[in-house]
Amino acid sequence: MKYEKLAQTYDELSSTTKRLEKIGILSKFLKQLKEEDRDVLYLLLGDIYPEYDERRIGISNQIAIKSIAKATGSENKDVVKKWKEIGDIGKVAEVLIAKKKQSTLHKNILTTEKVIENLRKLPDLVGKGTVNKKLSLITELLTSASPIEALYLVRTLIGDLRIGIQESTVRDSLAEAFFERNKESTEKIQHAIDKTNDVAAVFDVIKKNGKLKDLEKLQLQVGKPIKVMLADKAKTIEEAFKKVGKPAAIEYKYDGFRLLAHKTGDSVILFTRNLENVTKQFPEVIDYIKKYVKGDSFIIDSEAVGFDKKTKEYKPFQEISQRIRRKYDIEKIQNELPVEINVFDILYYNGKSLLDEPFEKRTELVSKIVKNHPYKIIRSKKIVTSDEKKAKEFYEMALKDNQEGVMFKNLKAEYQPGRRVGHMLKIKPEERDLDLVITGGEYGTGRRGGWLSSFILSCRVDSAGKTFTEIGKMGTGIKEKATEETDSGISFHELTEKLKPYFKKENGKMVEIKPKIIISVTYQEIQKSPNYNSGFALRFPRFTALRPDKPLSEVSSLKEVKKDFENQKRNWRYG
Ligand code: ATP
Repeated sequence: MKYEKLAQTYDELSSTTKRLEKIGILSKFLKQLKEEDRDVLYLLLGDIYPEYDERRIGISNQIAIKSIAKATGSENKDVVKKWKEIGDIGKVAEVLIAKKKQSTLHKNILTTEKVIENLRKLPDLVGKGTVNKKLSLITELLTSASPIEALYLVRTLIGDLRIGIQESTVRDSLAEAFFERNKESTEKIQHAIDKTNDVAAVFDVIKKNGKLKDLEKLQLQVGKPIKVMLADKAKTIEEAFKKVGKPAAIEYKYDGFRLLAHKTGDSVILFTRNLENVTKQFPEVIDYIKKYVKGDSFIIDSEAVGFDKKTKEYKPFQEISQRIRRKYDIEKIQNELPVEINVFDILYYNGKSLLDEPFEKRTELVSKIVKNHPYKIIRSKKIVTSDEKKAKEFYEMALKDNQEGVMFKNLKAEYQPGRRVGHMLKIKPEERDLDLVITGGEYGTGRRGGWLSSFILSCRVDSAGKTFTEIGKMGTGIKEKATEETDSGISFHELTEKLKPYFKKENGKMVEIKPKIIISVTYQEIQKSPNYNSGFALRFPRFTALRPDKPLSEVSSLKEVKKDFENQKRNWRYG
């Protein structure tokens, strides 16, 4: 179809912030699509492939600028100047193309097929001459584009479409366009999207058959990543039982990262909860799955947890998180930071989806096919009980075992990919607050290279605020990039810059820092620890705010920390 039609729809969509109006516009557009226009659904979400596919357009602002210059016969520096004026590269393209169009009569008609064809060549380009090849693919499109087409083309390229459309808007618009939009139709469409992570595949079925029931034919596919089922929170054990029913399955809530293993025949693929393929990073896990899990094909859900090679104690997630993105020296890091796979669910087995089976049935199968090999792969620790006392004891044991808490699960519940459900609940100790001062840091590696990525926290010893003693290390609650949205509102880069004037001594990756920057931190628990001068260590400390309003004399004191430690021992809230 003509790209112009899509660009006009983008424009209409961005002209309103009202959800219902957006659904009205989008459903009208979707009704006109033909079967062969399926890929336009990806474009609507600013993409060229389904969500499960890892390939992304990934064009930098620099390349976008160069392409605009080339397509409009401008100098790079003029495009940059305009960009500084307008602040939106898409708009720059729109303005410059408009200027050029006045002087040329010739115009090719741009189609969505051509746009997709060219954009799909981009992610696969590697090696020498890549930049030039990218430039010519983009320029080819831009020279045929009208101003409004150029605007949305460039925004698509840099991954910032700005039309306020999410998957849920597409879902509701599909319901509106082809069925009666109600709870049943939106839920069925959502289920189909959750199982496939492919809006165009869902569109295919709707367009072909036009019946809601046919969507049920869309099933999981081994090898294609799916979104995991997420848990709600419960504050107390009593509340958890009330919500999931008695008896309930209670499992350790491991402090690692979610890992889904897909196996067919000889091939095993591992995905994270972000649908990232991490197969190459965990060769030993592939081995465990092949050796210790029975079955020709399956998808199992698990948590990978790090442990200390010598003491065999479980380690906090932060210490193994680097394995997820590590692309080199895999064997070395595998040896240094081993993981144990804790299997707690199964979604698919030998050709059959188990999503609609009750949890107890699914885990019964897990216990039949997963052979426990501690420090390699095990079934996650679990009890099934109606007894609050037993639940409490199990919770205490999980905490003692260095884990975050427990999960409560309803025995009869189905597995709902991509949903946060009320039949699986997490309980962790309540978080507490301290105001601490940063007295040291460690430079990060990889994506966090060049910045401090973990910070030594200290509490106050004397009343004047002249001496401090270390109480832990923190790396969570801080944003990766300045644009990412989290509560804290500070990035590693920004915090490092703030600390730089107070650097005292650098020793390799470690930096000693003058006590100056005070921050509020939440944590889950204080432990006795020989690792820090104070004799205590915070578990799960998380940055919440900078406290420029506080003087050093108001940093939490060691006395307060001791008191918190004692209190927590006495009235530990098991919820
Ligand atoms: P959320 O996952 O709810 O968005 P979050 O990232 O803070 O929030 P947690 O609060 O840690 O996650 O709780 C959910 C996570 O706990 C799961 O996604 C999973 O990775 C992990 N987990 C650990 N043990 C289990 C278990 N036995 N069953 C299910 N999930 C578990």
